[in-house]
Amino acid sequence: MDDPVLHQSYAAAAADLSVPWQAETPPDPALAWLNEDLARELGYDPAWLREPAGIALLTGQVDADGHPVPAGGAAPERPFTTAQVYAGHQFGSPNPQLGDGRAVLLGDLLDTTGRRRDLHLKGAGATPFARAGDGRAPLGPMLREAVVGESLHALGVPTTRALAVLTTGEQIAPRQGVTPEPGAILVRVAASHLRVGTVEYAAWHLDLDARRALVQYAAARHLPEGVETKSTALDLLEHVTRAQAELLAQWMLLGFVHGVMNTDNMTLSGEGIDYGPCAFLDEHRSGAVFSSIDRGGRYAYAAQPGIALWNLSRFAETLIQLIDEEDPNAAVEQATAVLEDFEPHYLDAYGRRLAAKLGIPAHGEGADAEHLAAIRASGAELFALLEEQHVDHTGFFRALTDADPAALFADPAPFTSWYEGVLALRGSGASAEAALAGMDRANPVYIPRNVHLEAALRAAHLGDLAPAYALLDAVRRPCERRAELAHLEGPGDGGEHFMTFCGT
Ligand code: AMP
Ligand code: MG
Repeated sequence: MDDPVLHQSYAAAAADLSVPWQAETPPDPALAWLNEDLARELGYDPAWLREPAGIALLTGQVDADGHPVPAGGAAPERPFTTAQVYAGHQFGSPNPQLGDGRAVLLGDLLDTTGRRRDLHLKGAGATPFARAGDGRAPLGPMLREAVVGESLHALGVPTTRALAVLTTGEQIAPRQGVTPEPGAILVRVAASHLRVGTVEYAAWHLDLDARRALVQYAAARHLPEGVETKSTALDLLEHVTRAQAELLAQWMLLGFVHGVMNTDNMTLSGEGIDYGPCAFLDEHRSGAVFSSIDRGGRYAYAAQPGIALWNLSRFAETLIQLIDEEDPNAAVEQATAVLEDFEPHYLDAYGRRLAAKLGIPAHGEGADAEHLAAIRASGAELFALLEEQHVDHTGFFRALTDADPAALFADPAPFTSWYEGVLALRGSGASAEAALAGMDRANPVYIPRNVHLEAALRAAHLGDLAPAYALLDAVRRPCERRAELAHLEGPGDGGEHFMTFCGT
């Protein structure tokens, strides 16, 4: 098998949106976890990645052509790897200058299925965009990204994923507390690293040609071929809007709270990215906030779809001039029409996926709007009930097939009457049977529960990776109950007051 060839297609296509930048040389790099399936999918031999040359590649020690440089070898005069610049709205306020502060883009490659993927190294040292940051990443948060990414991927949610997590051999200043932490590098695989914030940066700092080149590149990377109907910019807006609507519907039904949905953490690909202060709901709580920096609850669980649309509106603003250069009013009208499409898309995706979780037939183009609306109404009633009676979000759905769900409610009467409504929506016959049979695949047994994830990361900090491996094993086959992983199934104790402090 030939190793995949790394490119820097973004730097070649988009001027002034990245700088060549060399990753630091870590003193004593070691693999903490290698995603062997993903390695093969990319075209890498996992055994080779474990060798010194593979470790050199995974830590960004590459020559001017992107080939690994053995330990002690000289860094190239002009680095192959790059640091990307972007801007963004952080908690609602524009920040004109952000970027890869502690990461480099190792390159992009064509994977074994013909898809172009980015390889990105987080924790590779300070770059020109580091501002006051130290360029370091601690092991805990990098493992967290790996676990959350694998979990979401296994649940069918578009997401960036970890190819590997390495320790650097350094102890770094803690983000919190006083105990130094192991330094780490996350090797992240993404459909691209184009963010809403990337296009904001271009709109705020670059000329029209550079902005056009960026939109062309984004379109080439993310739009299916041959669909262009209007302007490329408008097509891109439409694609991103739909992809994000689909993503948010999935997050909401899984009880996933991203925690820091700034525009620089929203991709054009529709993949989730930057899982810093994220968490899954235990008890269903619409106002759940797990991030210590989100004091106002801007990114609370129930606020997420609205925030996605807010972010998309900022994205649309950056595209107006490119949509119609002569007639800005016409461009605004067209962009508005696309944004108005977010809600129906979201509701449709949400309805269909909720139906799958409840075992109600609703697939295919034939599922009519009224039926889906009834399913969503039933869902709203359910979530109010779960919230009132402090019922576990994930545990509830799985109990529908595995246990007696009524037993989860202190007062089961409202649940029982709600459930009659579900049975009526389910109906009978072959399609009802099929929907029922599919429920176990829509409702995970294992998600990265806050308490269990935190315990695994604490153990990793102390040098014991076994709990992190067990959690990875659980979430990578999330719907398949295994006796030896029983301890990872429920919410554990104390998760409801869980808070994350780590940055992304
Ligand atoms: P986030 O909100 O965590 O997605 O990141 C905001 C910005 O801060 C990004 O541009 C990061 O690259 C940067 N950043 C976060 N931590 C560090 C660090 N330790 N050193 C340098 N830059 C950082
Ligand atoms: Mg970020």
